[in-house]
Amino acid sequence: MRELEERILKDGRVLPGEVLKVDGFLNHQIDPDLMFAMGSEFAHLFRETGVTKILTVESSGIAPAVMTGLQLHVPVVFARKHKSVTLIDDLYTAEVYSYTKKTSNHISISKKFLDADDKVLIIDDFLANGQAVQGLFDIADQAKCEIAGVGIVIEKVFQTGHQLIADRGVRLESLAQITSFDDDRVHFASEQTD
Ligand code: 5GP
Repeated sequence: MRELEERILKDGRVLPGEVLKVDGFLNHQIDPDLMFAMGSEFAHLFRETGVTKILTVESSGIAPAVMTGLQLHVPVVFARKHKSVTLIDDLYTAEVYSYTKKTSNHISISKKFLDADDKVLIIDDFLANGQAVQGLFDIADQAKCEIAGVGIVIEKVFQTGHQLIADRGVRLESLAQITSFDDDRVHFASEQTD
């Protein structure tokens, strides 16, 4: 998505550890117009798949997920993060290793918001090694619901998340695909096709 790539070039900052900081429009301050446009794009891409619910993880997945849910007219459920989970009877839970924080968290979704009739679209802000998406796959499996696809705002294609989703046979759509951070500059897959 051209508008997103231009915004990344304008406001993104490459940090050590192959981390892109985009707190000016996605991870802290949010640009609602850009977010709405991204929701439209996800809605367009997945409209025909019969999605009944959108799943994401708090907190940065919520904004793009809500903008997509708004345009597909389906509910959005976000997994909550906990250091540990003790009372788990009413929860689906999974363990997720955080790429940016380098710690493990449990994520959970209340059983009342997901069931076997659901067909879910997973939305997240970044795809790195796919641990957050894997955690949501685990939760969808526990609920025995179908996965319509994964929509990612910014995918770092040189990390392993892409393969993890391909191995599972799930459709992946990313609005910006970063191929490298060479020389502290962001390079996109679209540069090779333009
Ligand atoms: P994964 O679980 O795919 O390894 O990493 C995805 C999660 O880590 C995202 O939900 C996001 O919160 C965080 N993340 C991974 N890479 C980046 C990055 O380059 N920049 C930012 N801001 N967050 C990232």
